Amino acid sequence: MKRVIIIGGGFAGLAASVRLCDAGYSVTLLERRQQLGGRTFSFTDPVTGDTVDNGQHLLMKCYRETLDFFDRIGSRDDVVFQPQFRIDFRHAVDGAYTLRVPSFLPVPLNLLSGFLRFSAVHWTDIPPLRKIVAELHKDLDTRLTVDAWLKHCGQKPRMRRAFWDPLCIAALNQRPQNASARYLQAVLQEAFWGESDGMRLGYARTGLSGLFENRAREYISKRGGEVLCGKAVTSIVPDSSGVRIHTRSGDVIDTYMCIAAVPPLQLARMICAETFAELHHTLCQYEPSPIFSVNLWFDRAFMREPMCGLLGTTMEWVFNKPVLYGDHDRASEGFLTMVVSAAHHLLHMSNDDLIDMACRELHQVFPESRCAEVLHARVICEHAATCALPFSYAVPKTQTPHPRLFLAGDWTDTGLPPTIEGAVRSGYAAADAILLK
Ligand SMILES: Cc1cc2nc3c(=O)[nH]c(=O)nc-3n(C[C@H](O)[C@H](O)[C@H](O)COP(=O)(O)OP(=O)(O)OC[C@H]3O[C@@H](n4cnc5c(N)ncnc54)[C@H](O)[C@@H]3O)c2cc1C
Repeated sequence: MKRVIIIGGGFAGLAASVRLCDAGYSVTLLERRQQLGGRTFSFTDPVTGDTVDNGQHLLMKCYRETLDFFDRIGSRDDVVFQPQFRIDFRHAVDGAYTLRVPSFLPVPLNLLSGFLRFSAVHWTDIPPLRKIVAELHKDLDTRLTVDAWLKHCGQKPRMRRAFWDPLCIAALNQRPQNASARYLQAVLQEAFWGESDGMRLGYARTGLSGLFENRAREYISKRGGEVLCGKAVTSIVPDSSGVRIHTRSGDVIDTYMCIAAVPPLQLARMICAETFAELHHTLCQYEPSPIFSVNLWFDRAFMREPMCGLLGTTMEWVFNKPVLYGDHDRASEGFLTMVVSAAHHLLHMSNDDLIDMACRELHQVFPESRCAEVLHARVICEHAATCALPFSYAVPKTQTPHPRLFLAGDWTDTGLPPTIEGAVRSGYAAADAILLK
């Protein structure tokens, strides 16, 4: 049986492992940390005993490959989708709005119906949406930013503030001035212009680790694969007969084929800068984009919605953890997570200042919170929640210049922004490339 080494136990590495195990390959997965999941994990908060994610993750019904992966490992039932696309918004001054897109209407009638009833915008903001639709299948310039594209398509400031900018920041983890219009176009094609329910949002009804970590490990092990945690790879050296891998603990592993499913800057440290000159140079250009989560435990529940988009505040989203988990995982009453994406502008702030700001803004949008007391708070900053490449570089593809070394990860050329779906697709694509050899 041919042995394949997969480096990295995030969604990309796990998806590649599952695909290769299904095809009868012998898989060894090497993961640096003691747990699987990469940038998607949860832990128990020692003060409250609640399950806390490293950051709230949302899925969409159009995450085709992710749902296939969950089906295979048996996690699908722990993902809950809204019956129809719905986002409740609260504005610091103007009050509450809801964007609700009915699933029973076909595209684009569903969107038209949603925007006509979305009181954050005016009906005169709606006709320019046709311009975006007309550009959905155009080959956009790789250097075009979301900001420039939306301006070119005549999107008015009200529509930008209430819909486009929050969508761009949440889906791409980049501000419209820095984000590639191609990625927003891809999200629109897949989520809003494909199946009429492709945009429905989903979430795990357990902590992220509970959703897939043990199930993926068992799936691989039961099919003869090995999952080795605590194995940090230090170098990958391909030659004509295979690939030699060195780990920090001194192992030297020879394999027929290898998939590197680690983030770009980590990969740059593992490969030879001379042998892989162009790839190495590209990997070093990736720029990390942070996401902050401010977890707050109040002495009472005052929010009813499962999640809420915030407008006119620095905090962008608030997630109601006990409502999201139901009885399936631990979240005390009054436990909320507030999130800011593409949050470079918050990196200089102390945790105490972030907590103060989150509470102040919560008081503005939920006046009911003013008499609630904060019992406990925990800030999580994921400095490199996702990584983006400057527009002048070509995103690396699955196949490297060496025929036995393949790449996977949400940062590779999947056509999607860096997301779970991008990661799973990249893992499947790397496995498929090996199956074709
Ligand atoms: C706070 C936050 C919120 C997010 N929200 C969303 C969301 O709502 N929806 C969405 O779709 N996506 C979201 N994302 C993005 C999503 O988490 C990522 O796109 C996805 O998890 C990337 O998976 P990956 O397998 O490509 O990379 P990773 O998860 O980074 O996996 C790489 C793995 O490689 C391992 N590794 C690194 N170096 C070595 C080494 N030397 N040897 C061995 N192993 C190594 C790492 O430990 C890690 O386990 C969010 C991310 C964060 C951080």
